Amino acid sequence: MGNCMVLRKKKKKKKKKKKKKNFFFFFFFQVKYNMSIELEKKFSDKRIKQQHPSFSPIDRDFIRAIKNGTLRLHANKRRWTDIIQTCRLCGYVSETLGHVLAHCKCHASMWHLRHNDIQNRLVMAITDYNNTASVRVVSVNRRVRGVDSTLRPDIVVDKMSDGSRLIVDVTVPVEHAHDPCRTRAAFEKARYTKNTKYRPIANALTCQGIRTRVVALIIGALGTWDEKNAETLKELGISTLDAMALRNTLCLQTLKWARRIYVRHMTMGKRNTPKH
Ligand SMILES: [Zn+2]
Repeated sequence: MGNCMVLRKKKKKKKKKKKKKNFFFFFFFQVKYNMSIELEKKFSDKRIKQQHPSFSPIDRDFIRAIKNGTLRLHANKRRWTDIIQTCRLCGYVSETLGHVLAHCKCHASMWHLRHNDIQNRLVMAITDYNNTASVRVVSVNRRVRGVDSTLRPDIVVDKMSDGSRLIVDVTVPVEHAHDPCRTRAAFEKARYTKNTKYRPIANALTCQGIRTRVVALIIGALGTWDEKNAETLKELGISTLDAMALRNTLCLQTLKWARRIYVRHMTMGKRNTPKH
């Protein structure tokens, strides 16, 4: 009997020790975890505020989620679970943000609206900011007169100073959120594609005696500004200060479009497909 009592007491002591250990481990882990989240949040907020001072808190949350890779896309979830990586809408092999913003055909109408929004803002800037009237808008999203081509360049303008013509085309390629080199490569590729697409029209006009060049305005789908756009805006008669204001507006709007497309993707996915 005496031995039994001793054993029971020992067991009780062990249980108490275990409880204490668990409590301290849980407390320490919780504090550490909360601190790391808080630090990361503050750090990210500060950096994002510095980089994008005009963005709203919702936009900043969206950027933070992109940078931390915490958007609820299958390609991101794949890192923690064995979830299928395919797109919930079109069935493409990998549901990444790049796929949603530029390749998932279910959002083609939204890409079109995004493109037209940027194009219209640029046209307004050319007409409003151009105080010297050195540039005149000839056509917007129409076939070029006198040229046998079905292509419809976004904006065609005449430069009054030297009588030359510019074909301006807006394009929104997907940048890489973590790698500026890959982003630059994507922008160069987009510029080259636009140049080769509209060069036949420019050559035909040049043969008719109107010297014509093709220029592009490139903004990343997540609101990254291509530095070469400064030259394009200068050629369109927009001053440096106005170009800065236009840059902020266009980047912010493009990012808002990215968030809208992402939200639409998630809501359509919930409605159309069973939960994984
Ligand atoms: Zn898709």
